[in-house]
Amino acid sequence: MSNLDVKPAATECGGAGHTGPVRDLIKGRDVTLGASTLVRRLLPTLGRRMVGAWCFVDNYGPDDIADEPGMQVPPHPHIGLQTVSWLHAGEVLHRDSVGSRQLVRPRELGLMTSGRAIAHSEESPRPHTNAPVLHGTQLWVALPGEHRDTAPAFEHHPVLPEIAGGNGLRATVILGSLDGATSPGTTYTPLVGADVTVAAGTDARLPVEEGFEYAALAMSGEAVVDGVPLPVGSLLYLGGGRRELPVRADTDAAFMLLGGVPFDEKIIMWWNFVARAGDEITAARAAWNAGDRFGEVRGYDGDRLLAPELPALPLKPRGRAR
Ligand code: MN
Repeated sequence: MSNLDVKPAATECGGAGHTGPVRDLIKGRDVTLGASTLVRRLLPTLGRRMVGAWCFVDNYGPDDIADEPGMQVPPHPHIGLQTVSWLHAGEVLHRDSVGSRQLVRPRELGLMTSGRAIAHSEESPRPHTNAPVLHGTQLWVALPGEHRDTAPAFEHHPVLPEIAGGNGLRATVILGSLDGATSPGTTYTPLVGADVTVAAGTDARLPVEEGFEYAALAMSGEAVVDGVPLPVGSLLYLGGGRRELPVRADTDAAFMLLGGVPFDEKIIMWWNFVARAGDEITAARAAWNAGDRFGEVRGYDGDRLLAPELPALPLKPRGRAR
């Protein structure tokens, strides 16, 4: 997924802050990507920029795209981050400038590490009559300073570890670790992304890390996390300082659990770039628009996405919450 804002604001993230227990329900805001795709942007928002190293969360669908183009995100660049594609329904065809061409299906991890520079496209397959509903989440993970210039790479992990506590909670570990299970996806900071399903009538506790901060993104049904009912498409920021997370539901429900060690470095996010200084953003933007540095995405039927104008104000790094 690309940040397709025509006039993206600079978002300054990172830096130490409060990590005690919190219950802050973030409803997000609607953002239109391209011609047809409407997403709910949960991170960054006005009050919160990061959860661990997770720095960007767009949730979309379920959308009936049988008679629509569906997701059509032309080639665009990234630096300083990883992208995570996670689907509950539908299919996304990923292509990138390191030569990957991969169909990502529901409950499979598509993990792209931009490192110093990568470009990619994401599209609903043509045709997509066999998968007419699109429902998922696109997330970014900020790379720590010591790894942000690593080589670009793409990983596809169709099989991920599952946790079944026998208490009505089941979890797929998408990235990082949860309750002793670890995803095969490459990580650069201690974190977790998990898909938690809750059976109707469950009243249980999920083991979590005291030193992580967490958030829960409601995917379906109505889970009640730490006493807070989660409307579908909302993000509950939980802070840290817990060893267990109370979860219950009266109906079948699912949510994504995102967490990690609070990201202490200050970063700048602008458009599709994560950097440490404004001049890195300026250089990356100029290189992409000139056709340099990022390589070529082969096979996408359409033009690449050029970077918009930089904001008039200088880009400066700041903290992970306002
Ligand atoms: Mn992207």
